[in-house]
Amino acid sequence: MLYHSTRDKEHKAPLGASDAILKGLAPDGGLYVPEKLPGLPGDLDPSMEYWRFASKVLAPFFKGDVLEDALPGICQKAFDFPVPIRELSHSSVLELFHGPTSAFKDFGARFLAFSMEDLLKQRGEDLCILVATSGDTGGAVAAAFHGRSHLSVKVLFPKGRVAERQRRQLTCWDGNVEAYEVDGSFDDCQAMVKAAFVDPAYAAGLSSANSINLGRLLPQMAYYVYASMLYKKEHGVAPTIIIPSGNVGNSTGAYWAKEMGAPIERIVLAVNANRTIPDFLESGTYEARASIKTLANAMDVGAPSNMERLFDLYPSLDQIRAKLSAWSVSDDEIRQTIKETYEEEGYIICPHTACAERVRRTQFPSDENVMIVSTAHPAKFETIVEPLIGTEVPVPEALSKLLSRESHSKAIAADHHLLFQ
Ligand SMILES: *Cc1c(COP(=O)(O)O)cnc(C)c1O
Repeated sequence: MLYHSTRDKEHKAPLGASDAILKGLAPDGGLYVPEKLPGLPGDLDPSMEYWRFASKVLAPFFKGDVLEDALPGICQKAFDFPVPIRELSHSSVLELFHGPTSAFKDFGARFLAFSMEDLLKQRGEDLCILVATSGDTGGAVAAAFHGRSHLSVKVLFPKGRVAERQRRQLTCWDGNVEAYEVDGSFDDCQAMVKAAFVDPAYAAGLSSANSINLGRLLPQMAYYVYASMLYKKEHGVAPTIIIPSGNVGNSTGAYWAKEMGAPIERIVLAVNANRTIPDFLESGTYEARASIKTLANAMDVGAPSNMERLFDLYPSLDQIRAKLSAWSVSDDEIRQTIKETYEEEGYIICPHTACAERVRRTQFPSDENVMIVSTAHPAKFETIVEPLIGTEVPVPEALSKLLSRESHSKAIAADHHLLFQ
């Protein structure tokens, strides 16, 4: 299986999965996509253990690659937590938050970390991962790479601008993970990472773990194959899936799963007040913009990078309009939906999941065959959720373990040289 950049229209520089994973972004600035999506393997059964299922779905994507033989072992280590579907009275919820940092980013970050560890072992090389974060990504990446050999991580976050529980998840590490509290904004942190990548003194040993990395995207496809087959087995029909979306990496996984033949009726994107995609579908003109701050902050994206992969999959406006629907949800609607869902179902949802549930309530009020996706555990956003439901959100065991660890970070000025002293 070979991959090419979304900007390499004639497929002049294809490469294998491992090389695409180690490169992250293609040298021409594009994103890696498979030359051709394979069909689903014939012997998939959603009653098998999740890691075995995922390993079967991913196998054709690593055919002929140096990671081919290691793939089952990587999946077994990376996906060591459950992927349940919770049944509510009017819908089903795919809970993707049972990993160590209680958000779906654990799937991609852990698969990437174990894949990179294996590759670097084979090559006898070391890499340092730089991540600038304003919240969720840094926590998932730090947790996934902690203790991996041949790898170290430097997490940069802006002083005073991340929520307390998020800060604790970034700073609870030791050993090969270091946290830097930067005297500056999130943009300053990102500028430091960019400066380090182009500085000849440091660039050679550095890499990133961005959400656009192929190694984060592929595992996000596997759980849609699994969940749609499990849903169909239990309900007898293929579900419509509503996905809380920001950079559209999670939903790109769903589109790849559907194109491979997974039983998915329709994929619907729920976005917050960042309306780039619904506005594009309406006007036909794609205009990226600056992001707006909302309660569902992990979805505050005005220029969703993975749209480039969806434009590659569905090249014409007609095709993309036939396949994509997207609705925007306001902060007031997020609050109301968290409250209503708790009152009606006794079920607590995070602000991101609330966007999907809102779209279900307004656009699919009588459709029973809808599965919404829950991207994070509500305990990560307790300062928003608890006042709305009037009670404490129980903290999952994995998350409470992280929160009780000792905190370490280095306070530095916004200068990338200080990361390497
Ligand atoms: C990252 C994230 C999203 C958005 O996912 P994309 O792949 O960027 O669309 C939604 N919810 C939560 C909790 C997240 O952390």
